[in-house]
Parts: sequence; C-alpha cells; structure tokens
Amino acid sequence: MVACPCEVCASSDKKDKRLRSSILVQSPTTTIVVDTTPDFRYQMLRANVRQLDAVIFTHPHKDHIAGLDDVRAFNFFQHRPMDLYANEMTQESIVREFPYAFADIKYPGIPDLRLKRIEKDLFQVGDISILPIQVWHLKMPVLGFRFGNFTYITDANRIEDSEKEKIRGSEQIVLNALRHEKHLSHFTLQEAIDEVRELGVPHAWFTHISHQLGKYSDVNPTLPAGMELAYDGQVIEA
Ligand SMILES: [Zn+2]
Ligand SMILES: [Zn+2]
Ligand SMILES: [Zn+2]
Repeated sequence: MVACPCEVCASSDKKDKRLRSSILVQSPTTTIVVDTTPDFRYQMLRANVRQLDAVIFTHPHKDHIAGLDDVRAFNFFQHRPMDLYANEMTQESIVREFPYAFADIKYPGIPDLRLKRIEKDLFQVGDISILPIQVWHLKMPVLGFRFGNFTYITDANRIEDSEKEKIRGSEQIVLNALRHEKHLSHFTLQEAIDEVRELGVPHAWFTHISHQLGKYSDVNPTLPAGMELAYDGQVIEA
C-alpha cells in the first residue's frame, strides 16, 4: 500500500510484493488477461507478454479496469481492435470511464476496443472455453471464470449454491482472501479456506491479499494441505 510503513509493505520478500489482482491465461494459441488493473502496463512488461487476444472482466471496480488504456500497445503491434468481454454493468462502466475510446471522432493513438457481452453461457476465445460463474461482492454481481478444471474467482464474499455447482469438479481454484478480519465484500482467509473445503477443490491459491493479512512467510505455512497464498508472477499449470 502506498505510503504504508508496515512489515509487509517494507518486506524485501518478492512474495510480499503485491500488485493488483489479475491473471494471464495461456493456451498454445491463445492468450487472455482477466482484468486490466492499474498495474496492467507493468504486469505486461514484467511478464514480457507479446500477444494478447482478449481481456475478460470480472467487475467494474477501479482496481480491475483502470489500466485498460494500455491495451493500445497490443493494438499497435497486432493491427486489430482488442476484444473486451464483460457483462452489461461492466461494459457501461468501461464506456463511461474511457469515453474517448468510444467517441465518434477519435484522436490518434487511443485504444481500439471492441466490446463483447458475457452472458450466462460458456463462451470461447480462440481455443479457450470459458464458463462464467456469478458470485457476490456485497451487492455487486462479479464474474468468476472456469477454464477447464481451473477456476478463478476474485472479489467475492458469497457464492450461491447454484454457482458452486459450476465450480465443483475443478482441480484448481484461485479464490480471493483479503485479510483475517471480517470485511463487507471480500472473503476473509478463514472464509476462503471454508469455501474451498466445501467446494472440494484439491488445490487452492488465495489472491487479492491485503497487506493486513501478513507476510507470505508467516501466513503460508499455517494453511491447510493443498492451499497456498498466491504470489505475483506465479505460474500454475492447468
Ligand atoms: Zn502495509
Ligand atoms: Zn471489487
Ligand atoms: Zn478488487
């Protein structure tokens, strides 16, 4: 956290360097990013991403969309618009927050964006099939996504039974766990552990971690078997 002197923010452990939450999903032919965080540009540079076929969005909070402008570098090298998959609410926010990209008269160099609607059904980007899962972030519906047997859910504090059915059978899950203390719109670490147990997913990583959770080296060894804290730059083979 900016300006914070706590032991996590001051830590030199790479696993305590937490940029905003996002994942890159890659198949042999297709590359997708989930959310364009305020750190999107640096995340793309850090991971040396040369190809990006689409962005899929979970929800319109600023920490998940603010970096969108920087997809223009991919427009420049790929010579085509960037496909943005989002639900109606998130599409409206994107149009409102990046109005210049949707203006009738556009100035040069701005991102070239093509909005695509996510409905309830399985959809396809290249050779990657994606099943949307709707979870609750207090009162905001947020989309999680299942890619084969890998499920990614961020910014949730409640999952309805009908959506849990869509997650069951996954081999791997990334789920949000903000901190130890109760929060209005995010799972605590214990709540996330309980959710993973109930879902019966054997391998879990926790993401969207606040500095309030503590240092990786202190917290990770306390987790049950099969569960870990995720860290920036982590690669998971699915
Ligand atoms: Zn801190
Ligand atoms: Zn959020
Ligand atoms: Zn968030």
